[in-house]
Amino acid sequence: MNREFLYELLETGSVSGNETELEKKIYDYMKDKADLVTVDELGCVTAVLNPAAPFKVLAAGHADEIGLMVSAVGSDGTLMATKIGGIYPTTYPGHKVRIYTKNGILYGAVANSRDIAKNADLKVSDLRIDIGAKDKEDALRYVELGDTVTFDTGVRELLNGYVTGRALDDRIGAFIVMEALAEAKKKGAAVGCYAAATTGEETTGNGAYFTASRVKPDIAVAVDVTYTSDNCGISEALTGDVAVGKGPVLCNNPSIHKKVNSLLRDCARRLGMAVQTEAASGQTGTDGDTMHLTGAGVPFALVSIPLRYMHNPDEVGSLKDIQECIDLLAEFFASLTADTDLKPF
Ligand SMILES: [Zn+2]
Repeated sequence: MNREFLYELLETGSVSGNETELEKKIYDYMKDKADLVTVDELGCVTAVLNPAAPFKVLAAGHADEIGLMVSAVGSDGTLMATKIGGIYPTTYPGHKVRIYTKNGILYGAVANSRDIAKNADLKVSDLRIDIGAKDKEDALRYVELGDTVTFDTGVRELLNGYVTGRALDDRIGAFIVMEALAEAKKKGAAVGCYAAATTGEETTGNGAYFTASRVKPDIAVAVDVTYTSDNCGISEALTGDVAVGKGPVLCNNPSIHKKVNSLLRDCARRLGMAVQTEAASGQTGTDGDTMHLTGAGVPFALVSIPLRYMHNPDEVGSLKDIQECIDLLAEFFASLTADTDLKPF
């Protein structure tokens, strides 16, 4: 995998609805690696192998991240914000943030105090971003209402191939589908293979809807991060025993297609790769749910990358898991044939 490009993506701001800079980078990266690269009106980039092939498989990773949006400016020049996606307001006070303005990145510090630090019920409307402005007029010279905001946290490598950074969710998924498509080309994939970096997963699901409606795939695979049960993770009883560093995760739930799942398991077996299993009781909360219900309906599966501390300023994942997700998906792309029958009986 191209680790430098991965880190470049992770350093780029892509708050839901404001993914253009990231999508452009993916478009340029894939130009010489796919048979065709397209961009739609939302900015979703789709890289394609064998665009004329009638049997189509679509793998999607979402390019957007959670964050804040500037909603108002106080008379003191501090910024107020509303949430974009599932943020935790208590993770913001005391942190540096980046504000993505039309003239580039502006930095701010989120106000903190003893009272704020003790407030477990802190709401997003309680946050105040200090950009050093003298007053409202001064702030509005640099910031527009609607500008998006992320934590100002960079990528750092940890021990044993672990990596930490902001919003690995799900820029690592967008990276994985693209790298897998490039690998599938080398493996001689024969069916129509589509890798999409979707917009809007954290808020509206619009990118997955636009993309799947246009591609009309026979199979869809969502590639997204998932919660783990290790290191302050969630209950094993709820979602299964899932840990960072132990490989890609396949999901069992009522809507995930069992035959697609077993094809993915066959691929892992051929590669000698361990996969983990998670459970979801209803929808998956990913682009898979959206792609599933487009057109005449699309059988789908979910390949998840285990991730600690999801939606926090510093998430933790593993480069080994990322590489294995690439390998698994490349093998899946390359193993499909036009007569793949998905009927259960
Ligand atoms: Zn996600």
